Amino acid sequence: MTDRFGDRCAADRDLINPLRPQPPLPGRAPANRLPICPGDTWNPDNEKLLYRAAKEAAEHIILNFKSIQKTIIHAIERLLELREKFPDASSMEYLYMLEEEYRKEESKYLIIEKPFKAFYGVIKPPEIVELYEIDTIRDLFRFEFVKMIEHDIFIKKCKNCGQFFIPRRRTNAKYCERIYGDTNRKCSEIGAMLRYEKKVAGNPVLEAHKKAYRRLHSRVRAKKMTQTAFMKWSDESVKKRDACLDGELTFEEFVAWLEQGRVRRARGKGGKQQKVTMG
Ligand SMILES: [Zn+2]
Repeated sequence: MTDRFGDRCAADRDLINPLRPQPPLPGRAPANRLPICPGDTWNPDNEKLLYRAAKEAAEHIILNFKSIQKTIIHAIERLLELREKFPDASSMEYLYMLEEEYRKEESKYLIIEKPFKAFYGVIKPPEIVELYEIDTIRDLFRFEFVKMIEHDIFIKKCKNCGQFFIPRRRTNAKYCERIYGDTNRKCSEIGAMLRYEKKVAGNPVLEAHKKAYRRLHSRVRAKKMTQTAFMKWSDESVKKRDACLDGELTFEEFVAWLEQGRVRRARGKGGKQQKVTMG
Protein backbone atom coordinates (compact mmCIF):
# COMPACT_ATOMS: atom_id res chain seq x y z
CA MET A 1 0.00 0.00 0.00
CA THR A 2 1.38 3.38 -0.90
CA ASP A 3 -0.89 5.00 1.63
CA ARG A 4 1.22 3.97 4.63
CA PHE A 5 3.94 6.29 5.81
CA GLY A 6 5.22 6.58 2.29
CA ASP A 7 6.48 9.32 0.07
CA ARG A 8 3.41 11.46 -0.09
CA CYS A 9 5.25 14.63 0.89
CA ALA A 10 6.17 15.43 -2.72
CA ALA A 11 2.53 15.09 -3.77
CA ASP A 12 1.46 17.26 -0.82
CA ARG A 13 3.84 20.00 -1.86
CA ASP A 14 2.66 19.93 -5.51
CA LEU A 15 -0.91 20.38 -4.38
CA ILE A 16 -0.02 23.36 -2.28
CA ASN A 17 1.82 25.06 -5.16
CA PRO A 18 -1.30 26.35 -7.02
CA LEU A 19 -2.00 28.46 -3.95
CA ARG A 20 0.75 30.79 -5.01
CA PRO A 21 -0.42 33.78 -7.11
CA GLN A 22 -0.80 32.83 -10.75
CA PRO A 23 0.63 34.80 -13.71
CA PRO A 24 -2.03 36.94 -15.48
CA LEU A 25 -4.16 35.05 -18.01
CA PRO A 26 -3.12 35.68 -21.67
CA GLY A 27 -4.93 38.64 -23.27
CA ARG A 28 -6.21 39.96 -19.94
CA ALA A 29 -5.20 43.34 -18.73
CA PRO A 30 -3.44 43.13 -15.39
CA ALA A 31 -6.10 45.41 -13.89
CA ASN A 32 -6.97 45.83 -10.23
CA ARG A 33 -3.84 44.22 -8.98
CA LEU A 34 -3.38 44.46 -5.29
CA PRO A 35 0.09 43.78 -3.98
CA ILE A 36 0.08 41.31 -1.02
CA CYS A 37 3.72 41.19 -0.20
CA PRO A 38 6.83 42.37 -2.02
CA GLY A 39 7.12 40.64 -5.37
CA ASP A 40 3.63 39.08 -5.22
CA THR A 41 0.57 40.40 -7.01
CA TRP A 42 -3.09 39.68 -6.61
CA ASN A 43 -5.48 39.34 -9.54
CA PRO A 44 -9.19 39.01 -8.71
CA ASP A 45 -9.57 36.73 -11.76
CA ASN A 46 -7.50 34.17 -9.93
CA GLU A 47 -9.76 34.12 -6.94
CA LYS A 48 -11.97 31.20 -8.08
CA LEU A 49 -9.00 29.15 -9.19
CA LEU A 50 -7.28 29.84 -5.94
CA TYR A 51 -10.37 28.93 -3.92
CA ARG A 52 -10.77 25.63 -5.77
CA ALA A 53 -7.11 24.78 -5.29
CA ALA A 54 -7.31 25.58 -1.58
CA LYS A 55 -10.44 23.44 -1.22
CA GLU A 56 -8.83 20.51 -3.03
CA ALA A 57 -5.71 20.81 -0.95
CA ALA A 58 -7.77 20.86 2.27
CA GLU A 59 -9.73 17.78 1.18
CA HIS A 60 -6.52 16.01 0.28
CA ILE A 61 -4.95 16.87 3.64
CA ILE A 62 -8.04 15.62 5.55
CA LEU A 63 -8.08 12.31 3.65
CA ASN A 64 -4.37 11.90 4.17
CA PHE A 65 -4.74 12.74 7.84
CA LYS A 66 -7.52 10.17 8.30
CA SER A 67 -5.43 7.43 6.71
CA ILE A 68 -2.48 8.24 9.00
CA GLN A 69 -4.83 8.28 11.98
CA LYS A 70 -6.15 4.83 11.03
CA THR A 71 -2.61 3.44 10.75
CA ILE A 72 -1.60 4.88 14.12
CA ILE A 73 -4.76 3.66 15.89
CA HIS A 74 -4.10 0.18 14.55
CA ALA A 75 -0.47 0.36 15.72
CA ILE A 76 -1.49 1.51 19.23
CA GLU A 77 -4.10 -1.23 19.51
CA ARG A 78 -1.53 -3.84 18.48
CA LEU A 79 0.91 -2.35 21.01
CA LEU A 80 -1.68 -2.70 23.80
CA GLU A 81 -2.29 -6.33 22.83
CA LEU A 82 1.43 -7.06 22.82
CA ARG A 83 1.85 -5.43 26.24
CA GLU A 84 -0.83 -7.73 27.60
CA LYS A 85 0.59 -10.81 25.91
CA PHE A 86 4.24 -10.13 26.82
CA PRO A 87 4.12 -8.04 30.01
CA ASP A 88 7.87 -8.31 30.64
CA ALA A 89 9.17 -7.16 27.26
CA SER A 90 11.04 -3.86 27.00
CA SER A 91 9.57 -0.90 25.12
CA MET A 92 11.89 -1.35 22.14
CA GLU A 93 11.09 -5.05 22.00
CA TYR A 94 7.43 -4.11 21.49
CA LEU A 95 8.45 -1.80 18.67
CA TYR A 96 10.45 -4.63 17.13
CA MET A 97 7.46 -7.01 17.35
CA LEU A 98 5.22 -4.40 15.72
CA GLU A 99 7.68 -3.70 12.96
CA GLU A 100 8.18 -7.41 12.26
CA GLU A 101 4.42 -7.75 11.78
CA TYR A 102 4.42 -4.91 9.24
CA ARG A 103 7.44 -6.31 7.47
CA LYS A 104 5.73 -9.68 7.08
CA GLU A 105 2.53 -8.03 5.78
CA GLU A 106 3.99 -5.38 3.54
CA SER A 107 7.64 -6.35 3.10
CA LYS A 108 8.84 -3.15 4.76
CA TYR A 109 9.03 -1.52 8.16
CA LEU A 110 6.48 1.10 9.11
CA ILE A 111 8.28 3.22 11.68
CA ILE A 112 12.00 2.51 11.60
CA GLU A 113 14.62 2.62 8.84
CA LYS A 114 13.49 5.91 7.26
CA PRO A 115 15.79 8.41 9.01
CA PHE A 116 14.89 11.61 10.82
CA LYS A 117 17.24 14.53 10.47
CA ALA A 118 18.51 15.33 13.96
CA PHE A 119 20.77 18.22 14.91
CA TYR A 120 21.67 20.40 17.89
CA GLY A 121 20.57 23.94 18.42
CA VAL A 122 20.14 26.70 20.99
CA ILE A 123 16.53 27.46 21.91
CA LYS A 124 17.08 29.06 25.29
CA PRO A 125 20.70 30.16 25.88
CA PRO A 126 22.86 28.68 27.25
CA GLU A 127 21.09 25.34 26.76
CA ILE A 128 21.83 23.23 23.71
CA VAL A 129 19.04 20.85 22.78
CA GLU A 130 18.56 18.04 20.31
CA LEU A 131 16.26 19.09 17.45
CA TYR A 132 14.61 17.20 14.62
CA GLU A 133 13.64 18.33 11.18
CA ILE A 134 10.25 16.90 10.24
CA ASP A 135 8.74 17.73 6.84
CA THR A 136 5.41 15.91 6.72
CA ILE A 137 2.51 15.12 9.03
CA ARG A 138 3.17 11.44 8.36
CA ASP A 139 6.72 11.78 9.69
CA LEU A 140 5.47 13.74 12.68
CA PHE A 141 3.13 10.87 13.62
CA ARG A 142 5.90 8.35 13.03
CA PHE A 143 8.24 10.37 15.23
CA GLU A 144 5.69 10.83 18.02
CA PHE A 145 4.84 7.15 17.99
CA VAL A 146 8.42 5.95 18.28
CA LYS A 147 9.13 8.51 21.04
CA MET A 148 6.00 7.40 22.90
CA ILE A 149 7.25 3.81 22.90
CA GLU A 150 10.84 4.79 23.68
CA HIS A 151 9.81 6.83 26.74
CA ASP A 152 7.37 4.18 28.02
CA ILE A 153 4.39 6.53 27.80
CA PHE A 154 1.70 4.19 28.98
CA ILE A 155 -1.23 4.78 26.66
CA LYS A 156 -4.46 2.94 27.53
CA LYS A 157 -7.95 2.48 26.14
CA CYS A 158 -10.80 3.70 28.33
CA LYS A 159 -13.06 0.82 29.36
CA ASN A 160 -16.07 3.13 29.26
CA CYS A 161 -15.81 5.34 26.15
CA GLY A 162 -13.18 3.35 24.24
CA GLN A 163 -10.89 6.34 23.60
CA PHE A 164 -7.16 6.36 24.25
CA PHE A 165 -5.73 8.11 27.30
CA ILE A 166 -2.54 8.38 29.33
CA PRO A 167 -3.18 7.62 33.02
CA ARG A 168 -2.13 10.58 35.16
CA ARG A 169 -1.89 8.92 38.56
CA ARG A 170 -2.22 5.16 38.58
CA THR A 171 -0.95 3.11 35.63
CA ASN A 172 -3.70 0.58 36.30
CA ALA A 173 -6.45 3.19 35.73
CA LYS A 174 -9.25 1.77 33.61
CA TYR A 175 -11.11 4.97 32.77
CA CYS A 176 -10.18 8.29 31.19
CA GLU A 177 -10.78 11.83 32.48
CA ARG A 178 -13.08 12.91 29.62
CA ILE A 179 -16.66 14.02 30.26
CA TYR A 180 -18.84 11.10 29.18
CA GLY A 181 -21.70 11.97 26.80
CA ASP A 182 -24.21 14.36 28.37
CA THR A 183 -23.68 12.99 31.88
CA ASN A 184 -21.49 15.94 32.99
CA ARG A 185 -19.34 13.36 34.76
CA LYS A 186 -15.93 11.98 33.85
CA CYS A 187 -15.50 8.40 32.69
CA SER A 188 -13.27 7.89 35.75
CA GLU A 189 -16.18 8.93 37.99
CA ILE A 190 -18.97 6.91 36.44
CA GLY A 191 -17.21 4.26 34.31
CA ALA A 192 -17.12 1.57 37.00
CA MET A 193 -20.75 2.18 37.91
CA LEU A 194 -21.95 2.08 34.28
CA ARG A 195 -19.97 -1.08 33.64
CA TYR A 196 -21.38 -2.71 36.77
CA GLU A 197 -24.90 -1.70 35.74
CA LYS A 198 -24.42 -3.34 32.37
CA LYS A 199 -23.25 -6.47 34.16
CA VAL A 200 -26.13 -6.32 36.64
CA ALA A 201 -28.78 -6.04 33.94
CA GLY A 202 -29.91 -9.55 33.16
CA ASN A 203 -28.34 -11.14 36.24
CA PRO A 204 -31.12 -11.75 38.83
CA VAL A 205 -28.65 -12.28 41.71
CA LEU A 206 -26.92 -8.94 41.11
CA GLU A 207 -30.22 -7.20 40.49
CA ALA A 208 -31.74 -8.47 43.74
CA HIS A 209 -28.60 -7.40 45.60
CA LYS A 210 -28.61 -3.95 44.05
CA LYS A 211 -32.28 -3.42 44.92
CA ALA A 212 -31.74 -4.44 48.55
CA TYR A 213 -28.61 -2.28 48.75
CA ARG A 214 -30.52 0.79 47.54
CA ARG A 215 -33.40 0.10 49.91
CA LEU A 216 -31.15 -0.13 52.95
CA HIS A 217 -29.04 2.80 51.86
CA SER A 218 -32.15 4.99 51.71
CA ARG A 219 -32.96 3.83 55.27
CA VAL A 220 -29.55 5.19 56.35
CA ARG A 221 -30.33 8.50 54.67
CA ALA A 222 -33.71 8.60 56.42
CA LYS A 223 -31.87 7.90 59.71
CA LYS A 224 -33.83 4.68 60.23
CA MET A 225 -30.61 2.66 60.17
CA THR A 226 -27.14 3.49 61.44
CA GLN A 227 -24.16 3.72 59.10
CA THR A 228 -22.37 1.03 61.14
CA ALA A 229 -25.29 -1.39 60.84
CA PHE A 230 -25.46 -0.67 57.12
CA MET A 231 -21.74 -1.30 56.60
CA LYS A 232 -22.05 -4.58 58.48
CA TRP A 233 -25.02 -5.57 56.34
CA SER A 234 -23.20 -4.49 53.18
CA ASP A 235 -20.14 -6.64 53.92
CA GLU A 236 -22.29 -9.65 54.68
CA SER A 237 -24.52 -9.10 51.66
CA VAL A 238 -21.50 -9.17 49.34
CA LYS A 239 -20.42 -12.51 50.85
CA LYS A 240 -23.95 -13.92 50.43
CA ARG A 241 -24.15 -12.53 46.88
CA ASP A 242 -20.86 -14.17 45.88
CA ALA A 243 -21.90 -17.44 47.57
CA CYS A 244 -25.09 -17.34 45.50
CA LEU A 245 -23.12 -16.60 42.30
CA ASP A 246 -20.87 -19.57 43.12
CA GLY A 247 -23.90 -21.82 43.60
CA GLU A 248 -23.35 -22.35 47.33
CA LEU A 249 -26.63 -20.61 48.08
CA THR A 250 -29.84 -20.94 46.03
CA PHE A 251 -31.41 -17.81 44.58
CA GLU A 252 -34.46 -18.27 46.84
CA GLU A 253 -32.27 -18.55 49.94
CA PHE A 254 -30.38 -15.41 48.91
CA VAL A 255 -33.61 -13.43 48.34
CA ALA A 256 -35.01 -14.71 51.67
CA TRP A 257 -31.83 -13.46 53.38
CA LEU A 258 -32.13 -10.05 51.69
CA GLU A 259 -35.79 -9.77 52.68
CA GLN A 260 -35.28 -10.61 56.35
CA GLY A 261 -36.09 -7.88 58.78
CA ARG A 262 -37.69 -5.86 56.01
CA VAL A 263 -40.34 -3.37 57.12
CA ARG A 264 -43.45 -3.50 54.97
CA ARG A 265 -46.62 -1.51 54.94
CA ALA A 266 -49.49 -3.70 56.07
CA ARG A 267 -51.93 -4.11 53.24
CA GLY A 268 -55.21 -2.21 53.58
CA LYS A 269 -54.64 -1.28 57.22
CA GLY A 270 -54.23 2.49 56.93
CA GLY A 271 -50.44 2.62 56.58
CA LYS A 272 -49.67 0.68 59.74
CA GLN A 273 -46.23 -0.91 59.60
CA GLN A 274 -45.56 -4.54 60.19
CA LYS A 275 -42.25 -6.25 60.59
CA VAL A 276 -41.57 -9.40 58.64
CA THR A 277 -40.19 -12.13 60.90
CA MET A 278 -36.44 -12.31 61.15
CA GLY A 279 -34.73 -15.31 59.55
ZN1 LIG B 1 -13.45 7.47 28.74
